[in-house]
Amino acid sequence: MLDLNYFEAMEAKIPKGKVRTRFAPSPTGYMHVGNLRTALYTWLIARHAGGTFILRIEDTDQARQVEGAEEVIYRTMAECGLDHDEGPDIGGPVAPYIQSQRRDTYGKYARLLVERGHAYYCFCEKTESEEDSGEFGRAPDPCRDLPLEEAQARVDAGEPFVIRQKIPRGGTTTFQDAIFGDITVENDTLDDQVLLKRDGLPTYNFANVIDDHLMGITHVVRGSEYLSSAPKYNLLYQAFGWDIPTYVHCSPVMRDAQNKMSKRHGDPSYEDLRDQGYLTPAILNYVALLGWSPKGELAEQEIFSLPELVQAFELNGVSKSPAIFDLDKLTHFNALYLRALSPEAFLQAAEPYIRQTVKNYAPGLIAPLLQARCEKLTDIPEKVDFFDTLPDYGVDLFTNKKSKCTPEVAKRMLDAAIPALEGLTDWTQENIHNCLTTLAEQLEVKTATLMWPVRISAAGKAVTPGGAVEICHILGREETVRRLKLGAEKC
Ligand code: GLU
Repeated sequence: MLDLNYFEAMEAKIPKGKVRTRFAPSPTGYMHVGNLRTALYTWLIARHAGGTFILRIEDTDQARQVEGAEEVIYRTMAECGLDHDEGPDIGGPVAPYIQSQRRDTYGKYARLLVERGHAYYCFCEKTESEEDSGEFGRAPDPCRDLPLEEAQARVDAGEPFVIRQKIPRGGTTTFQDAIFGDITVENDTLDDQVLLKRDGLPTYNFANVIDDHLMGITHVVRGSEYLSSAPKYNLLYQAFGWDIPTYVHCSPVMRDAQNKMSKRHGDPSYEDLRDQGYLTPAILNYVALLGWSPKGELAEQEIFSLPELVQAFELNGVSKSPAIFDLDKLTHFNALYLRALSPEAFLQAAEPYIRQTVKNYAPGLIAPLLQARCEKLTDIPEKVDFFDTLPDYGVDLFTNKKSKCTPEVAKRMLDAAIPALEGLTDWTQENIHNCLTTLAEQLEVKTATLMWPVRISAAGKAVTPGGAVEICHILGREETVRRLKLGAEKC
């Protein structure tokens, strides 16, 4: 006999009265973009309502365990500022928050359902493909109608079993989703899914219902791949006599019109994007808009900080349509975020990337050239590599129509610029600038005609962050003159 006090005690622990949401990742070892979006929306719903945000680790699929996978979850959430109020690492009123530690609970609730006639012990050996065949014309499971005493005797004798949900025959089940509206299905299209596996662990389909109820979850936010199972979850809630939470199913994030984003196809995870030089706030901002858009006064706004998202996020802005992940759009957001950083914050972010190719000059001098000129931090090393090592460039770089420059003109310009720069007393940007513009006037050429060969010889490449003056200033007089002489020799 089951101890009913246990269930009463569990009910008594459930926090009530506030919005409670949970992010429930499986520890797969990476956080894909769709998962990050689910985490963000779940967190935003809680924070917008002044509610509680819970982290729950769903590790009941033992075959899919990955070393260090939980670390990725904690690290990503912390980097993104998606702080939780309850979770495995900090505990809370409905601990434990790791499913593998809640094993006994699921077993007890599964047995309660068996006693109430909403589930049954099943002793059949079925392969996974038989399990998922979705053939509803097939013969009913012979264990479904075994008398309980008989089934119990076989369990007591040690025969291996699973526990299956007993879906009512005939009739329909309707569930409501905040995004997709009301959906009704025929019960005869629902399978008697496994709730408790042979190893005594629950399936996701059972554990999510038990945990969401026992943790007092008011809004269940997850991917729309779970929509088709939602009627079975409703039948479970009804079988227990529990209130059904608000379902918020989110459409997938796609890589193109046909395919979902997937790690298997090389689509980036959160950490990949960060490693590719995207700033976390830019990623979060972009991800927030994958399937959600602000309404009313904010309808035109695209740039949102996390606190602004907390204010603005409403469920009526979440779309049913799948969202396509557009890396160019994220890159555009990232450039805006890089530009909006304070010079100090930009230097801090850019320094390790500058240091990849520049050892001889201070990153503090170079960073200001970059802030308005890079879209991703990873663009930086290649843009500034010429500071340490003058590239081996060809004389044709001196030819530029707009600046009215040819190798012959360049030779004349450089021959004049070298002594002028050598004679400068104070090597400041202003002095270098004045020296070169005055020289251009004396030579009766456009400033650009002089600046072009100076910049090309100083940097050895056509495209540089910063102009001739800024680059020469950073290089210093001696190195500038050395490079300008090398340039003049080429012409
Ligand atoms: N563990 C499930 C997943 O990672 C979570 C689904 C849910 O949030 O209910 O897909």
